[in-house]
Amino acid sequence: MADPKQQASIERMRRFDIRPRRKLGQNFLIDNNILDVISTAADLHVDDVVLEVGGGLGVLSEFLAARVSKLQVIEIDNKLSDALDDAVGGFENVLVHYGDAVDIDFGELDPKPTKLIANLPYNVAATCVIKAFYELPALELCCVMAQREVGERLTAKPSNKLYAGTSVLVQAISDNTTTRKLSRNIFHPVPNVDSSLVTLKRTAENPPPEFNALVHGAFAHRRKPLAGSLALIRRGHDDADTIKQRAVAALAELGYDANTRAEQLPATDFLRLNELISEDRG
Ligand code: SAM
Repeated sequence: MADPKQQASIERMRRFDIRPRRKLGQNFLIDNNILDVISTAADLHVDDVVLEVGGGLGVLSEFLAARVSKLQVIEIDNKLSDALDDAVGGFENVLVHYGDAVDIDFGELDPKPTKLIANLPYNVAATCVIKAFYELPALELCCVMAQREVGERLTAKPSNKLYAGTSVLVQAISDNTTTRKLSRNIFHPVPNVDSSLVTLKRTAENPPPEFNALVHGAFAHRRKPLAGSLALIRRGHDDADTIKQRAVAALAELGYDANTRAEQLPATDFLRLNELISEDRG
């Protein structure tokens, strides 16, 4: 057990001789006040099954383990295993998986998480949010600490320079309920970038799988007309010209002209576009 007189991350770092690895985004939480803020934002409940990506030194894991029904932790760095075990080894409701969260199918986790609550590593933060929503159809909420720009990208609206495929995928199925700026001083080492706590609540079921391909294809050439970009992804066996015509017709039905670019369409219109193109194929 960590010495109660010291903040747990600092104490475990010393005791287990851990040097944070920047390339793994190891900026550990060293201010426990944020834990209650997370609890409120995530609307923590004893029935929750929580996924935490990046257990680190276990300060958030330990907090969650004591408050939810089951906690699934994924951590890439097995050099942290003694520290993480010190934090959650005494809890029977915690499962720790050592591996890369990008490669792990969250849908294979048992029991399946209903919430993602994490201080995410900066380089895979957006990917983890998308994976959580799309690989876990029953996931209700993501409450994550991430680089501020990632938070802005997830919540950016059309025509904003940060508006991207990630924004569409997330906004198609969730609402941003809270965003809170975080001080850099709550992490050790102090990161070079600002962070936010972002909460996204599911509002809709996942669209059919081809929606992801449509959104990725649409933003692959964000400055080009959308219909042309979609022609390049060749849905099914249709040829490029057929797809382009179908996309132009679908855009017209939604009130857009043929030169409309991906960055102009809100997520709701992407959902409609996908339906119209699919209906047309019969
Ligand atoms: N939860 C801890 C905390 O709040 O102090 C640690 C958060 S730290 C920002 C991010 C953690 O994610 C690190 O422990 C790092 O080793 C881990 N990590 C980095 N890349 C990962 C990946 N691809 N899959 C799983 N964990 C990863």
